[in-house]
Amino acid sequence: MNRLKLNIPSPLEELIDPIISEKEVSVYVKRDDLIHPYITGNKWRKLKKYIQIFEESQKKGILSFGGAYSNHIMALAFVGNLLNIPTIGIIRGHELNKNSNQQLQLIDSLGMKLIFISREDYKKKNIPIDLEWKDYLIIPEGGYSKIGVDSMRELAQELEKENATHIITAVGTGTTAIGLAKFLSSEIIGILSLKNKAEINKNEIKQLGQNKIELLEDYSEKSYGKFDIEINAFSEKFGLEKKIPVEKIYTGKMFYALFDLIQKDYFPKGSKIIAIHTGGVYPTDPSKEIANNF
Ligand SMILES: *Cc1c(COP(=O)(O)O)cnc(C)c1O
Repeated sequence: MNRLKLNIPSPLEELIDPIISEKEVSVYVKRDDLIHPYITGNKWRKLKKYIQIFEESQKKGILSFGGAYSNHIMALAFVGNLLNIPTIGIIRGHELNKNSNQQLQLIDSLGMKLIFISREDYKKKNIPIDLEWKDYLIIPEGGYSKIGVDSMRELAQELEKENATHIITAVGTGTTAIGLAKFLSSEIIGILSLKNKAEINKNEIKQLGQNKIELLEDYSEKSYGKFDIEINAFSEKFGLEKKIPVEKIYTGKMFYALFDLIQKDYFPKGSKIIAIHTGGVYPTDPSKEIANNF
């Protein structure tokens, strides 16, 4: 895996802000966004174990699922390209094609085979029968599985010695938060991007995290509109002020929630909080990056 040239262990940086000192807590940011320009953040962390399993197997390639802007599919396409592993991406939306957006174009140029299926088929994870995928290793959407959870061990090991009282992370499927809760004794706070708390709670994978997870749904898309504009403005300002780029879906929302919780005295004085920057911010012009790298 050296060929991936990943920046691991990723840096841990202290976050400075008047409200943090006023409330007498400390905050550190785990910069998993700096692992690689495209194999970013928790997407690498969740893939790692799958890549090891693939390398020890006789499988021909790796197949996974995602939406048209899936960071998971992006990371898998890059890993496949750099390690010469054939990859297939099953993409939600029959109406789409490889030119539907820049991200899909880039993924296609990396050699991932893209298959577009209807939303109904996607829900059932119906893989087209004429596709040659029988000898492929299958990764569930977003790496949401026991393997994905166990794959978080690497990040947990990097954080262990920090003895944080709290760790805060953005949540999509919950794999990252559950993995951290499995391997660390800190309290894990997950900021939901979607209103899927009930779904995460009822899935048996959640039990792997031993119930040390606080999932907060208050910051997920209530109503697009006012709140969305607020998160957008916050994300932009945070990126400029702290020199830590974030996007509004996951990491912008997570930092917004973090400051809101600090303000509301959620954290006792003396708390040591680590915020996981789960990545998802790409260089602005993908075509330039490709030209430089290949
Ligand atoms: C996918 C993603 C998440 C969600 O991670 P889960 O493990 O599915 O909860 C969070 N942040 C970013 C930037 C992501 O791309």
